[in-house]
Amino acid sequence: MNSTSFSRRSFLQTALFGTAGLAFGGLLLPKSVSAESAPAFNLPPLPYAENALEPYISAKTLSFHYGKHHQAYVTNLNKLLQGSPLLEKSLEDVVIASSKSPEQSAVFNNAAQAWNHTFYWYSLHPKGGGKPSGKLANLIDSSFGSFDNFKQEFAKVALGQFGSGWAWLVKQGDSLKILKTSNADTPITQGIQPLLVLDVWEHAYYLDYQNKRADYLTACIEHLLNWEFAAANLEKAS
Ligand code: MN
Repeated sequence: MNSTSFSRRSFLQTALFGTAGLAFGGLLLPKSVSAESAPAFNLPPLPYAENALEPYISAKTLSFHYGKHHQAYVTNLNKLLQGSPLLEKSLEDVVIASSKSPEQSAVFNNAAQAWNHTFYWYSLHPKGGGKPSGKLANLIDSSFGSFDNFKQEFAKVALGQFGSGWAWLVKQGDSLKILKTSNADTPITQGIQPLLVLDVWEHAYYLDYQNKRADYLTACIEHLLNWEFAAANLEKAS
């Protein structure tokens, strides 16, 4: 890739994602648009600086988590899909299509991890934490009894995920629920709209918290959860 096509891609990514911010649509990963190259999924920009979540998540963690892990899922997905008509689809469509066939498990794992990580970056915010308001706050109260109960339940489910996976706040029917998924699994394959996610793979917290997943979860829930992103996702689900 030459520097011209790279900067064009970067510009387009910023145009599509930077300003999209909270709206974030269907989490489309913008495709490469340069005429001379085959279509490919790109790693979307991190929506904040790598040190922006400190002291709760270090720049070192984000540089590996985003720059190595997330990048690898995107790179592997592009390798797996070389010549495939799936490269013409949105990432969300690739996740859903590949989830239905066991022989596509490698495509699914990389596509879903690419999607889940982008959703995770947006689920956190340097000025996050605190309490939601309005309709979302009311729905949390009616679904969990209180915001404090929600926080306890979210931490408990995330802590209870055995091994690698994700903990999700989702809209299901008329209420909110907390789900956990293993490895790359994601609620979007069930047609369930997530509002927020926390990554509970060890790579998300081990450099900062070692084996203390509970401390990582508390830091995220108290200080980083992006309630504006959750509210925007709730609007999408309504
Ligand atoms: Mn991860």
